[in-house]
Amino acid sequence: MSSPRIAIVGAGISGICMAVALQRAGFADFTIYEKADDYGGTWRDNSYPGLVCDVPSRYYQFRFAKNPEWTHLYSAGPEIKDYLVGVAREHGLHRNTRFGTEVTGAEFDGEGWQVTTSDGATGRFDFVLCATGFLHHPTRPDIPGLDDFAGPVMHSARWRHDVDITGKRVGVIGTGSTGTQLVSAMAGNASEVVLFQRTPQWILPTVNRPYTRLSKWLYKRVPALGAVPYLFNRAAFAVFSQGLVHPGRVRKLIQWVVERHLKTVEDPELRAKLTPDYQAMCKRLVVSDRFYRTVQRPDVRLVTEGIDAVEQRGVVTADGRLHELDILVLATGFDSHAFMRPMAITGAFGRTLDQAWSAGPRAFEGVMMPDFPNLFMLVGPHSPFANHPLTAVAEAQSTRIVGWLQRWRAGEFTTIAPTHAATDRYNARMRAAAPSTVWTTGCTSWYLGKDGLPELWPWTPGAYEKLIRSAPNTADYQLNLRAASRS
Ligand code: NAP
Repeated sequence: MSSPRIAIVGAGISGICMAVALQRAGFADFTIYEKADDYGGTWRDNSYPGLVCDVPSRYYQFRFAKNPEWTHLYSAGPEIKDYLVGVAREHGLHRNTRFGTEVTGAEFDGEGWQVTTSDGATGRFDFVLCATGFLHHPTRPDIPGLDDFAGPVMHSARWRHDVDITGKRVGVIGTGSTGTQLVSAMAGNASEVVLFQRTPQWILPTVNRPYTRLSKWLYKRVPALGAVPYLFNRAAFAVFSQGLVHPGRVRKLIQWVVERHLKTVEDPELRAKLTPDYQAMCKRLVVSDRFYRTVQRPDVRLVTEGIDAVEQRGVVTADGRLHELDILVLATGFDSHAFMRPMAITGAFGRTLDQAWSAGPRAFEGVMMPDFPNLFMLVGPHSPFANHPLTAVAEAQSTRIVGWLQRWRAGEFTTIAPTHAATDRYNARMRAAAPSTVWTTGCTSWYLGKDGLPELWPWTPGAYEKLIRSAPNTADYQLNLRAASRS
């Protein structure tokens, strides 16, 4: 039995998860390419003040690496990054990782992949596993004059720790999960925080609390206890996700909760400005118990007039007003549809990824594409996400990928890709299910693709896990069987 040579692109949650799954299955010949200088992906890139994961810590972790030391119910960003670095270290992944090395291209050569990196080197691999994430490329808004601003301008995912906000007038553009966290964290430290809101958000209240020493001690002493919060949260998210994908009671209940929460804003004029005109969860639900309190502070100003331009002294809104600022923060999100790009990927028959995805990212079961044999994706198009933890998605997908690699090792095939017919059927079923989801009920969001349909799995995450953990139907794949003689 030969062992495949494997390239993993990206050392964030899904890259680490994949690498550990390979190790556990006895695949030793893998290289992780990471363009940055550390593990952590989005948790490395995002280091803005107030970053807290809105999924409970004891759920937002790998099942194979349960951490008894989480300090809070909802962990802060640096703690999650440290956890991911710790998992990578514990598994000795540094021996397989090439930091500071960006994969710029990958070309299928008939039986495997020629991978090119930013240093001009090339390597040949039997499989390429893309773990590149989707909240990775910051979006810089196209606002006239942005470059003319005299003070620092920073995207939330490129936080400049050399910029001190103390006593400064800080403008924040964007009211997603990031903008709301940032404003809540900076108020009271900055002299004034001005929040430029284009679209209001529904906010689900929650209470963060520290774990007691006793609870941490117990989880350390009795690791099996980790299953309790895991299963509890899994059940809670299963109920929550019913509301995402079906109209009905759960959706109504969440709507009721967020409307009640909004009523905690006392000034009717401010409350009206903060009231969305779409259903809760249509955009990704923001989770915060601080935001409404923060926007009611005298040193926080909510601006709802559109932004016309940025000039040297600040932001000019459509009413002609200049909002003078010292620092400008862009909490304007990410190009979530890029996935593995800008890597230049060329599959079979010279077909490029840009050609294959000219109508938008498409995949089979979230992990493979026709015409791109032996190329797998983690958290690829139409994987479940929304507020669901990506650790769980990555674990399920890496199990499927390992299953195929084992079959390759057993000599069942040399190359594998899903058929066009199976991929078309799969995508047609998802398109048919999209209208029941909350994401198509009348809002714009990064969840929607060019065709206005969600690029998310339109059923519950549990249904996806069941699918991806089940035995694949060989009829859905084109297997090159020449390898039968290899082993
Ligand atoms: P986002 O949800 O895409 O929000 C971007 C915000 O910027 C929106 O309010 C958008 O307004 C606004 N915006 C964009 N361009 C603008 C312009 N030209 N003028 C004015 N406003 C503009 O981005 P995000 O807040 O960074 O969050 C992205 C995702 O990261 C989240 O959905 C979530 O999945 C993840 N995240 C998770 C956590 C967590 O706790 N787990 C924390 C932070 C982020 P419109 O709504 O009008 O487009």
